[in-house]
Amino acid sequence: MRPAPPNRYRGRFAPSPTGELHLGSLMAALGSWLLARRAGGEWLVRIEDLDPPREVPGASDLQLAALRSFGLQPDGEVVRQGRRGALYQDALDRLLASGAAFRCHCSRSDLADTGGIHRSCVGSGTRPVPAVRLRVPDRCEVGFVDALRGRQVQRVDREVGDFVLRRADGLWAYQLAVVVDDADQAVTDVVRGADLLDSTPRQILLQRALALPTPNYAHLPLVCTPDGRKLSKSGDAVPVDPADPLPALRAAWATLGQPGEAIASCTDTTTLLQTALRHFDPDRIPAPESASIPATVPTSPRCTTAL
Ligand code: GLU
Repeated sequence: MRPAPPNRYRGRFAPSPTGELHLGSLMAALGSWLLARRAGGEWLVRIEDLDPPREVPGASDLQLAALRSFGLQPDGEVVRQGRRGALYQDALDRLLASGAAFRCHCSRSDLADTGGIHRSCVGSGTRPVPAVRLRVPDRCEVGFVDALRGRQVQRVDREVGDFVLRRADGLWAYQLAVVVDDADQAVTDVVRGADLLDSTPRQILLQRALALPTPNYAHLPLVCTPDGRKLSKSGDAVPVDPADPLPALRAAWATLGQPGEAIASCTDTTTLLQTALRHFDPDRIPAPESASIPATVPTSPRCTTAL
């Protein structure tokens, strides 16, 4: 990836291919696009296909086609994490060599007494391929200022423990891959759903251990079903309909707390996005409360699941 010019805003949208885009993912795509474009910056798309067992065949192509029909065109090539194992291996080797990471044979049941939190190896067995974890020191408090939610603090040792970088089944952990990729792609601003808010301190610890810059973070409110559940691609969330992009874009705009009147008269995606950009005010984004789905959510005709 070519490096961004110094201080040039570079944002990204990084879906996992676990299903089609739903309103929550479209909101993250549109929110990160609007913030990047408003800053005169670039906007990248990265497919986070790290976990083949959870992947839905064809989902990444559907996601990319949906983004195209919503008019959200990435700058530069779409990157796929599934092809970037060598970069993650390099980072892991550095962490092992510096002593920041260690091999671990503990199984899930070994850690049952501590609720899955690892502070020291307690397992008696050995696994054919050990997991690799980041060593989290005692009293490890990590704080950062979220652009929408203000100061956030986590005691990573107590709340998370030594966390996995490469799993015992050989798969790369999201935390390692996302940190390596955001740095490699020179991402300056991470804008994503609030479900990842509690991953950010782990990512900051990893950036420090790898001597990588920490980007700015903004966590958008979660879009919830009327009964308060978060929408998820792999769950029962109804996909947005790329064949009818305007209603979906209007709904995503509304979940970002922006006024519907501003874009009401737009009749094509290009005009809608350009008009949205002129009227976009990040101060209106609802945080920290969840946004709720507008009364009429446009859904894909292929999908029969009711919200
Ligand atoms: N791949 C994650 C998801 O689809 C997003 C990761 C990120 O934005 O850091 O929820």
